[in-house]
Amino acid sequence: MSEIDIRNLHVSVDGKEILKGVNLVVKQGEVHALMGPNGTGKSTLAYTLMGHPFYEVTEGEVWFKNQNILELEPDERSHLGLFLAFQYPVAIPGVTVANFLRTAINAKRRYSAPEDKGITIPEFRRTLKEKMDLLKMDHSFAGRYLNEGFSGGEKKRAEVLQLAALNPEIAVMDETDSGLDIDALRIVSEGVNTLRGPSLGVLVITHYQRILNYIKPDFVHIMLDGRIVETGGADLALHLEEHGYDWLREKTDTVLA
Ligand code: ADP
Ligand code: MG
Repeated sequence: MSEIDIRNLHVSVDGKEILKGVNLVVKQGEVHALMGPNGTGKSTLAYTLMGHPFYEVTEGEVWFKNQNILELEPDERSHLGLFLAFQYPVAIPGVTVANFLRTAINAKRRYSAPEDKGITIPEFRRTLKEKMDLLKMDHSFAGRYLNEGFSGGEKKRAEVLQLAALNPEIAVMDETDSGLDIDALRIVSEGVNTLRGPSLGVLVITHYQRILNYIKPDFVHIMLDGRIVETGGADLALHLEEHGYDWLREKTDTVLA
């Protein structure tokens, strides 16, 4: 049973500390939601897990499959079985969604077995069709150039398809805070609801408080000012929807004072 274990993670951007000691464990088979107001460091956590060079880890570790993944390159993290959303490249004319997925699957296979000859075309077609049917996606999507002219929602669909095709143990999905995030959250949630099961652990990051309309997380964590200040079940998201974050701010100020 795999898990990702984030221990006392401190991260700075431009010399300013954004994450101030994050502790979080996500196990295979669990769906976690990380919530919190804008600017509290949720995306910083996602980018750091991805290995974005802009985010400087000043303290802490992230363990996955007996390795501190902070020492690994982004592609190694992915090949190990960690899926990080927005790892798709910028639009590349000439690279279809299918080409991209096949390359990603083969890179992952070769990482664990260097002799691997790669997935055969018939096997790949079968897998892709099966995943697209599972996600109720139109097959023509696979033939489009990755991210070229994609709407925000289509980029999310490509991401969910990538998740389905790569079959990771742990997935981290960040919702951008743009105007389309309700739509994005719905697409991601439908994907997670379809793919959730004993072999997949998911961390969905959102500032959108009505997440429960779309997904029922096993755990909800609230981040304020670079720390997880509260953890509960799905009812915590309900409580937030009703009461906002102020009660947590007061409680946290009392603890930190
Ligand atoms: P959230 O996802 O919770 O809205 P972020 O992680 O995006 O929060 O941002 C947390 C803080 O870090 C903000 O104050 C933001 O301005 C700063 N920050 C994050 N990424 C960058 C960046 N690439 N450049 C400058 N500041 C950043
Ligand atoms: Mg964010």
